[in-house]
Amino acid sequence: MKVVSVEKEPSLGGTCLNVGCIPSKALLHNTHLYHMAKHDFKHRGIETGEVKFNFKAMMDYKVNAVKALTGGIAMLFQKNKVKLVRGAGTIVAPNKVEVKGEKGVETVNTKNILIATGSEVTPFPGVTFDEKQIITSTGALSLESVPKKMLVIGAGVIGLELGSVYQRLGADVTAIEFLGSIGGIGIDGEVAKTLQKILAKQGMKFKLETKVLGVKKEGSTVKVEVEGAKGGNKETMDCDVVLISIGRRPYTKDLGLDKVGIALDDRGRVPVNNKFQTTVPGIYAIGDVIHGPMLAHKAEDEGIVCVEGIKGMPVHFNYDAIPSVIYTSPEVGWVGKTEEDLKKEGKAYKVGKFPFLANSRAKTNGEPDGFVKVLSDKATDVILGTHIIGPGGGELINEAVLAQEYGAAAEDVARVCHAHPTCAEALREANLAAYCGKPINF
Ligand code: NAD
Repeated sequence: MKVVSVEKEPSLGGTCLNVGCIPSKALLHNTHLYHMAKHDFKHRGIETGEVKFNFKAMMDYKVNAVKALTGGIAMLFQKNKVKLVRGAGTIVAPNKVEVKGEKGVETVNTKNILIATGSEVTPFPGVTFDEKQIITSTGALSLESVPKKMLVIGAGVIGLELGSVYQRLGADVTAIEFLGSIGGIGIDGEVAKTLQKILAKQGMKFKLETKVLGVKKEGSTVKVEVEGAKGGNKETMDCDVVLISIGRRPYTKDLGLDKVGIALDDRGRVPVNNKFQTTVPGIYAIGDVIHGPMLAHKAEDEGIVCVEGIKGMPVHFNYDAIPSVIYTSPEVGWVGKTEEDLKKEGKAYKVGKFPFLANSRAKTNGEPDGFVKVLSDKATDVILGTHIIGPGGGELINEAVLAQEYGAAAEDVARVCHAHPTCAEALREANLAAYCGKPINF
């Protein structure tokens, strides 16, 4: 196909590359290394001089990591003959997109349109972000110094990841969460509890079942007024910086959907069928702007099958086999159903658990926190969900996704030879426990 990509931001790559996954992982990885060097090296027999961090250099590293990857996209566009039109696109007719750029308005006539405009931060009623003291994740990725005291509103993925970054650099971090558990949507309850315990041990504080009533700047202090989610005493908490991470919402501003007759659903999403077709022939949508988890890898895979569908190929997408990862230390990874989901569905299931404490590699590496939990169908042994909290959990989960996508039973994974000593053996053992009720090494 002849392809034109319309982009309004100067840097290609969208939220993930510019102000999401990639810069946050640069900061998470490097602050983890700093934390290890400062607090963990000595007992491993590694002696250093005084370990200090250089915040500006850390931020520069992040900027360079982002630049390298966004630059890579421009090269791939060139190599694959994708024409880039810079500016904000509006759909003015089913086959016509108007792009308002620096050089004026350009009209692109096209057979098909694929909407992949993503999402934006959910605003907090009555609060204006200055991105210095009252910040979104974007501001948190570009602070000029480490705050002494940081409040995080919303203990979901962003709150825990970016809260971890600043907590490792010495900030006093408290996460305020409306619900009674952390980790956001889709996390298994037992994993969430374990994660909270581990993060609390690292120094992060939590205020759960708490409602935020208001956020106010007073000089260099930000005052956050809270009360119990079910009512109760009001309290004002002070901080230097407050990060608001209460979710994201689909971004469809000025896209012109109303002009072509596409109505959004009750959550502001573009409705599509199972071929990613909107109600207007020739207009498709994928990613954060439609249903499902707001994850870059989900959007990427939807994009591929959607375009194959436009070419007349089959379109299959298995929403039960999309991994989720929280890049804290230890990492959390999961795929498929949680125990809470299965209980709600009234499905009979088996649980196979294996702690990293009993995994030789994790123990030897001094990373024994966490476990693998496999949920499989009681009657057929088919894997329904896998939940990992532990070393390399974000990498390990991909093996579980592969198994689930291929419809494996727990026995299938349990009988696959795994390299020893690796943390992946914990996944095998958990599958063994789900399949026959007992692992070998615990
Ligand atoms: P989230 O949905 O993960 O978490 C938001 C949290 O805020 C929830 O726990 C919710 O209960 C809480 N909350 C909502 N309103 C609140 C209020 N008024 N007061 C207190 N708590 C409140 O959302 P997020 O952390 O903002 O992340 C946004 C999106 O970005 C998510 O869709 C996420 O999947 C994606 N993301 C993914 C990754 C990753 O995959 N590692 C990392 C960052 C962001």
